[in-house]
Amino acid sequence: MSEIASRVLAGHVASGARVIRWLEDGERAGIEALKVLYPKSGRAHIVGITGPPGAGKSTLVDALIAEHRARGRRVAVVAVDPSSPFSGGAILGDRVRMQRHTTDPDVFIRSMATRGQLGGLSRTTFEAAAVLDAMGYDVVMVETVGVGQDELEVVDLAHTTLVVNVPGLGDDIQAIKAGILEVGDVFVLNKADRPGADDTEKALLTMLHLRGTVEGAWAPPLLKTVALREEGIGELVDACDAHRADLEASGALETAAAARGEHFFLELLRDFAAEKIIASATAHDSYPKLLASVRARAVDPYTAAEQLVAAFEPKFED
Ligand code: GDP
Repeated sequence: MSEIASRVLAGHVASGARVIRWLEDGERAGIEALKVLYPKSGRAHIVGITGPPGAGKSTLVDALIAEHRARGRRVAVVAVDPSSPFSGGAILGDRVRMQRHTTDPDVFIRSMATRGQLGGLSRTTFEAAAVLDAMGYDVVMVETVGVGQDELEVVDLAHTTLVVNVPGLGDDIQAIKAGILEVGDVFVLNKADRPGADDTEKALLTMLHLRGTVEGAWAPPLLKTVALREEGIGELVDACDAHRADLEASGALETAAAARGEHFFLELLRDFAAEKIIASATAHDSYPKLLASVRARAVDPYTAAEQLVAAFEPKFED
């Protein structure tokens, strides 16, 4: 095993940060480390946090970190910032509040931007989450600004998605616009100290009701918080834990994790090979077995995609 991968597995923060930086930059060393780390991931609870700018997401994440730490959990945060191509790296921008946690060795916080690499933000975020998961963080929070596609991709990655709203959005509730209502697992009405909180709560409850519930399925709760004063945070963590328990009990956690691995693998295949090669490779007798090991996390998507392409790419021989 590479030295850096073993340091990451031992939870060495600087090594984890370095591997994530390599992955952001599309450097080969990052991929090689990921190959080792990926099969060791799959234990963390990945929580996505989304909502319009200014809703208090960063403040909420800061409060959530404190609550998880109080419960003895190690926490990692990836703050995704699709709007700012220059914030990749260590600059935390407005997320200064969270810096009170940066001296805590059991808290990892990192800001991430797209920087135009292959596969974009969703892939880098997926990879970073896998690294942090392998490092042994109990909870990996992925915070993103509510802006369409990137946001939905991040939602795809999370086991539990928190949708943050604030009073006063009225008919305009951004959640609907972004189509995010359908994918929220836990709804948060932050800034519940603000006037109009009760009206917005009613409007949100109506919408959640309209979304409908399926017998026996998870019914997304709505929780009121005042992130600034750390109010309602314990209940919010309880709701996230309950959602995870529900996923586990129904088998959805495992199925979704397998589907995520498969999706990542297929994306890589499309990057690596032409449509025709993919078609013959995936039609081959050996393919279902390979796919099953990817889904079971026995092999990482990079190794699997590279091997498959190598086996089916035409050989140019004299
Ligand atoms: P983000 O853009 O969604 O990450 O929002 P921020 O966390 O940066 O918060 C935006 C502003 O709302 C900041 O000035 C916060 O201090 C403030 N804020 C956050 N939570 C609350 C809250 O519960 N009540 C009130 N009144 N203000 C809050």
